[in-house]
Amino acid sequence: MNKEEIKDIQCECPHCNLMNCYETKYEDISVFLCFTCGFTSNSKMIVDSEYVKKEFEQNQQVAKFIKNMQYTDTIRNLVWYPTVLQFPSLGVIFPEPINDTEWEWVYAQEVPILEEEKEKFKMDGTDEYYKTKLDVENAKHYNKFDFYTACIDAKIIIQPTTIN
Ligand SMILES: [Zn+2]
Repeated sequence: MNKEEIKDIQCECPHCNLMNCYETKYEDISVFLCFTCGFTSNSKMIVDSEYVKKEFEQNQQVAKFIKNMQYTDTIRNLVWYPTVLQFPSLGVIFPEPINDTEWEWVYAQEVPILEEEKEKFKMDGTDEYYKTKLDVENAKHYNKFDFYTACIDAKIIIQPTTIN
């Protein structure tokens, strides 16, 4: 896809009500991501749709607390969830619960696995070892409305307003 075909539109986030949300239009789908609260949705995530049931509500890979954070956008009739951003060689930004009602953002960097610990990182069914791991012990934590700083620290290039 050419960059020219992608267009970002700034909009109000239905979850935190701030104007730091961006809608990116691709050929057949619109993706929403708020850089304040980190909630995301896309035009397929229609309330009560099979897509949402299959990809989120009944998906074992999606953590239960993320499912519980489902937010209904009554204007667009879409459901939103906190995002999980994974970047090869950079790491992962993910939401983490603090207690029953509160949560925060976490950025864990991808780091090389040391020789002395490599036995713990053997690939199942092979003689191969993983070369990198997520450094969860030294992960950085952010307020739930500070998703943006987590993105900066992860060195993700974010300049949505300059795209065009
Ligand atoms: Zn938001």
